[in-house]
Amino acid sequence: MMANILSKYNVAGLEKAINEHNTIILTCHVNADGDALGSTLGLQQVLVNMGKKCSVIVPDLPPTNLSWIQGFKTAHAYEREIEACDSLIEEADCIFIMDYNAFSRAKLLGEKLASIDKASKCWVMVDHHLDPVEDCDVKISDPTASATCEVIFNCLFNSALKEYIDVKAASCFYTGIITDTGGLSYNSSNPDLYLLVAELLRFGIDKESIHDKIFNNKSVRRLKLLAASLKRMIVIGDTNVAYIGLPKNLLDKYHYMTGDTEGFVNVPLQAKNVQCSILLMDRPDGVKASLRSKGNFSVSDFAQKYYGGGGHFNASGATLNMPFEEAEARIIADMQEYFNTVCPKTNS
Ligand code: 5GP
Ligand code: MN
Repeated sequence: MMANILSKYNVAGLEKAINEHNTIILTCHVNADGDALGSTLGLQQVLVNMGKKCSVIVPDLPPTNLSWIQGFKTAHAYEREIEACDSLIEEADCIFIMDYNAFSRAKLLGEKLASIDKASKCWVMVDHHLDPVEDCDVKISDPTASATCEVIFNCLFNSALKEYIDVKAASCFYTGIITDTGGLSYNSSNPDLYLLVAELLRFGIDKESIHDKIFNNKSVRRLKLLAASLKRMIVIGDTNVAYIGLPKNLLDKYHYMTGDTEGFVNVPLQAKNVQCSILLMDRPDGVKASLRSKGNFSVSDFAQKYYGGGGHFNASGATLNMPFEEAEARIIADMQEYFNTVCPKTNS
């Protein structure tokens, strides 16, 4: 049943890397989301079950709204404990790059990884983003996959390591698939994905509780921030692109914490005629743009062309290093221009 999916991935390479190394570090991208945490913490659970020494290192503090994920408290935030993380990294014989494919997506942690002599460790990439950058000994990169959790679970399930998957690991992998697909709504049309989801359910995961924790876990403060954000929504010029700008004073007013705006960018797509949505946020390390689209409108192309960002066809991001007001004016004008090129007006 799984054979056709299995053949896509270098399962043997992954298995060998795991079997031949005993001190393994799992890393993911900044502002870790359900897939980044689910894939690293789920794999950590499997590796610990095998008797390996394994640590998860995330670049910055992971969002507290995901604090219920198995193993969350054991994850090290690089920015908060640089020295301890550096020792863990030095001690490790194998490093995983999960749910990202370029060190630039992991800030200071990425700089540390980039500074290591490549030949001194075994490097493994497990990812589903476009255009992988880093060289790795084992590179499992599938931009057609719904989530990194889908890729890693697929590999483990189809390997001899399957026996080490337990309900805790399966819950982590399920979480990443559900968060990266909005509850199997977008980015989840491959029928094979449902075979994997069926297998995850067989591990005895509490599906309803996971959905409840993902979708019904917002604080009143966060819901009020969402309401304030939607109040600011505009539709850009004559496009069908919605824009929400969140300046620092607004974020301060609602005591913004990392993860608070997770999912906000998807909300304008609920409007019938909105095909693309932009959320712009004033953050201490730059102005962060999140973009989402429906159908044949590439937001990764836009983010990459205009700001050197990237991501997926329908979900991308970029950082604009300029004052917020300038970034706001820029992205509105740039999107109008981009829209005119990809959706030229017909005079009929
Ligand atoms: P988000 O809007 O959730 O931060 O990001 C959406 C997608 O775009 C994610 O897959 C993320 O990895 C990617 N992404 C976000 N920001 C950047 C960026 O600055 N550069 C690149 N290359 N990808 C990004
Ligand atoms: Mn992902």
